[in-house]
Amino acid sequence: MESIFYEWSDMDKVLLVTGGSRGIGAATARLAAAKGYDVCISYRQNQTAADSVVRSIEQQGQNAIAIAADVASEPDILRLFSEVDQQLGLLTAFVNNAGILEQQMSVADMDVARLNRVFSTNVIGSFLCAKEAVKRMSTLRGGGGGAIVNVSSGAARSGSPSEYVDYAASKGAIDTMTIGLAKEVAREGIRVNAVRPGFIYTDIHTSGGEPNRVDRIKTAVPLQRGGQAVEVAQAILWLLSDKSSFTTGGFIDVTGGV
Ligand code: NAP
Repeated sequence: MESIFYEWSDMDKVLLVTGGSRGIGAATARLAAAKGYDVCISYRQNQTAADSVVRSIEQQGQNAIAIAADVASEPDILRLFSEVDQQLGLLTAFVNNAGILEQQMSVADMDVARLNRVFSTNVIGSFLCAKEAVKRMSTLRGGGGGAIVNVSSGAARSGSPSEYVDYAASKGAIDTMTIGLAKEVAREGIRVNAVRPGFIYTDIHTSGGEPNRVDRIKTAVPLQRGGQAVEVAQAILWLLSDKSSFTTGGFIDVTGGV
């Protein structure tokens, strides 16, 4: 029978994870290495954390590189993807993970500088990275196909009132991008899906001014706890793998039932 999907396991698996130095991105990079991917992680400033992820991947016997590149900067993104081309080879998997949130406040108090930072990083950065990934993976452009996973948030559904409606709206944009891009590139051998994490124990909550936010909220989670980064990584790795070969434009909520 003619194969209707790409056998990723037959290809060299090369993964780029943006924001892979800490949190969900780091857990994804480590788990991917355990599954045989060579991995590039990008980060914004924390080189020590990035180097530690690279070392742990190398200890698993895979190739790993870390590139400092701000996803809010197009020149940085172009340099990042070019480094992957040169150092690891043809990209087969991409995780659009880097994202930020800012101090908890009401919409009435948000200034334009903040809105520009959040949307430049979370939305425009994700679009520009997806663009570079598609250019390399598309079978119409000489690529071998691939899989993209966007890291959205349960906030896209809740709206995050009185905390960060801007962040929630940026993740709503990621959900819509996932649906549209999945349909756009399905005939080019590329699947595009998203995960929507809920309350996960990472440093991101410190940026909102509440490092212990997950513990405050966890009793409202049906499973009665916060999530671990590796639990999100497991969903991401499934969506990248050929086990999800008939899934595109889809979402996995990793929220403990919220
Ligand atoms: P985190 O622990 O704060 O880690 C963020 C990562 O992104 C770090 O590697 C950081 O690099 C990098 N980064 C931040 N801004 C960047 C930029 N402009 N360019 C390049 N890299 C940048 O965050 P996380 O909680 O793992 O979040 C990862 C993704 O999951 C985000 O998209 C977030 O919105 C989403 N998410 C998280 C939760 C949660 O509860 N944690 C829930 C839903 C969705 P440095 O180390 O250099 O700072």
